Amino acid sequence: MARYTGPVCRLCRREGEKLFLKGERCSKQNCAINKRPTAPGQHGTSRKKLSEFGQQTREKQKTKRIYGLMEKQFHQYFEVARSTPGVTGENLLRLLEMRLDNTVYRLGLGRSRTEARQIVRHNLITVNGKKVNIPSYQIKVGDVIQVRDKSKTLQRFKDVLDVTASRSIPEWLSGDAENLRGTVVMKPLREHITYDLRETLIVELYSK
Ligand code: SF4
Repeated sequence: MARYTGPVCRLCRREGEKLFLKGERCSKQNCAINKRPTAPGQHGTSRKKLSEFGQQTREKQKTKRIYGLMEKQFHQYFEVARSTPGVTGENLLRLLEMRLDNTVYRLGLGRSRTEARQIVRHNLITVNGKKVNIPSYQIKVGDVIQVRDKSKTLQRFKDVLDVTASRSIPEWLSGDAENLRGTVVMKPLREHITYDLRETLIVELYSK
């Protein structure tokens, strides 16, 4: 599946807020948003008031960028969310949260979603004891996600835990950092997703 490979700090600057795409650097002083909070490009310093359509588009772009998705895949998630009983916007966020790469990130086994995706891709993760290397894999309640036994001693995971140890794990997951493992205890509720996202704007945009 295609993914954005350009400079990621530029995406935060475009959205005018931290999207936490780089891991360790995001909480440091040299974060690009701290150094240069304007939008990239020639007219970056002149922020105009956005139209309703503009606000909806920005919210969609921001959400896509947080989860590292391209338009086509994001729209597919929306269609699944729309055809699932419940509130479409919340369904959408739940589907995104329950991707395997996001879950690995949320468990603190990756410093960023990009790194978590790479860890999954590199065959370092098992779900219920079986190797899964598909970042978009949808995890289910009761699933046990862990680093493969033979990869647990890798220096990489020591480095990751040094950075993520202070991060809190959301209530829908139960983490066991010592064993590089976590369990899905429930489906994420809206209040578990603490990003400042206005998913109703995305629903309005796609419903036009
Ligand atoms: Fe965004 Fe992180 Fe770059 Fe800061 S360091 S601009 S939060 S990706």
